Amino acid sequence: MSRFALLGAIVLGGCMSTEPTDAWRDRLDEPESTRSRPAVWQAAGRSVEGRAIEIQTLGMGPRRVLWIGSIHGNEREGSFATEALPGAFLAYPGLEQRVTMTMIRDLDPDGTAIRRRGNARHVDLNRNFPASNFHPGRDRGFRPLDQPETRFVYELIKNDAPDLVIVCHSSQRGQSFVNYDGPAWPFAARFSRISSYPVVHSNELDSTPGSLGSWLGHDQGIPVLTLEFRRGTDPARAWDETRQAILSTLAMR
Ligand SMILES: [Zn+2]
Repeated sequence: MSRFALLGAIVLGGCMSTEPTDAWRDRLDEPESTRSRPAVWQAAGRSVEGRAIEIQTLGMGPRRVLWIGSIHGNEREGSFATEALPGAFLAYPGLEQRVTMTMIRDLDPDGTAIRRRGNARHVDLNRNFPASNFHPGRDRGFRPLDQPETRFVYELIKNDAPDLVIVCHSSQRGQSFVNYDGPAWPFAARFSRISSYPVVHSNELDSTPGSLGSWLGHDQGIPVLTLEFRRGTDPARAWDETRQAILSTLAMR
């Protein structure tokens, strides 16, 4: 299994917290959030159109987890979880000491701004990673990592060397489920048991050349857990359904 060297964290910009714009964010008043410091998102990269790609890091433990709140601009179902998770993380006994979690708020802020799957160049970022099955194309990029958003997460992963990557998507299969790549079966099984979201294996889904899971999970042997929320699920409900499963998965040794 090849792994990246731990070179230290990168934070390139200053604080760029943005104001909530969706009504469901008013529900971000759960007990965990009120017991802990407010979320501090920092601009650490830039999109094609210059929007901030924001991150924050929580905890100080030896296990390193990367959370990606969204990678497709029209998939916002995991966004409530991304806002609520820092508070829940800090309130969970012992988690800060066991885990260092870096969170990317939204890898595709340009797509999110207009609720489109791809970035400002219409490239599907989850097809632009340097996986062995990368397939060039106008909507995938002509070379791996030829988009600033994928270069950003590539560098972050190279520097942070995560032990587990969790990424949020939404699915049009009519159900919420969890999928995984690489040696992530124990995480998927735990998540599924607690959330009741079924595990759908990658061979049951359409192939995803150049995806994060293909690159990191399949090629690099780094566990990737993909949370697929049913398209259209209320983001607050998605968090309610998965909060315990997410925290329990993060706490796994
Ligand atoms: Zn997606």
